[in-house]
Amino acid sequence: MKRKETLVNIQLNAENNKIELSDFVIDEMGNEHISTSIDTPMRKDAFEKTDAQKIEAIEKHFTSIMEILGLDLSDDSLRGTPKRVAKMYVQEFFGGLNPANKPNATLFDNKFGYHEMVVEKNISFYSTCEHHFVPFAGKAHIAYINNGQVIGLSKLNRIVKYFSKRPQVQERLTIQIGKELQRVLNTDDVAVILDAKHLCVASRGIEDDTSSTVTAFYGGAFNDEEKKNEYLKYIDFNTLH
Ligand SMILES: [Zn+2]
Repeated sequence: MKRKETLVNIQLNAENNKIELSDFVIDEMGNEHISTSIDTPMRKDAFEKTDAQKIEAIEKHFTSIMEILGLDLSDDSLRGTPKRVAKMYVQEFFGGLNPANKPNATLFDNKFGYHEMVVEKNISFYSTCEHHFVPFAGKAHIAYINNGQVIGLSKLNRIVKYFSKRPQVQERLTIQIGKELQRVLNTDDVAVILDAKHLCVASRGIEDDTSSTVTAFYGGAFNDEEKKNEYLKYIDFNTLH
């Protein structure tokens, strides 16, 4: 019931109507991985800087972080690290923040008259916990029932990858993938399960490296027990571990 206590501790500032978070609550939010919205919270000026400008600025700031930690950046092994981290952040780990990188999903007519569910399971993904900025990674299992048009299977991987490449909370990532698939495929009949290991749980805090976190999104027909069970049987969920 720790989660409940945490929420109760959040105070509303009477003057500006903003939520006030004490350091304690901020720590607790991180450890409990509480998400506050479905959309990734973005600033209005998020894309005023080019990627090159962002890399340059992050390189500078990461240099400071390393120096504050006491590291000597004149060492050959460390010299290139701030730039490497900056490029990795902008171009790889967080490339999915930029809508310009969103995959175009081309649909094809369902010429085969296939009306059963299509399941693509064990899609690997790597994301970053937005509370600790360390990776969480696992498998996505996706299913949809077509509404007259089908999608190239690799596009399912690309959609998972796009939303993974953001600072994320697993619950939000699951919903973002589910909602995007519903939009692209023009149907509510979409299911998504993510099963992931969080490095912030394994390498720090509680230091549990055997647990994994499962989140699910069931839309339309997948709220029907029979369809849901068929999907769970296809992904053979109980035997994954
Ligand atoms: Zn975390």
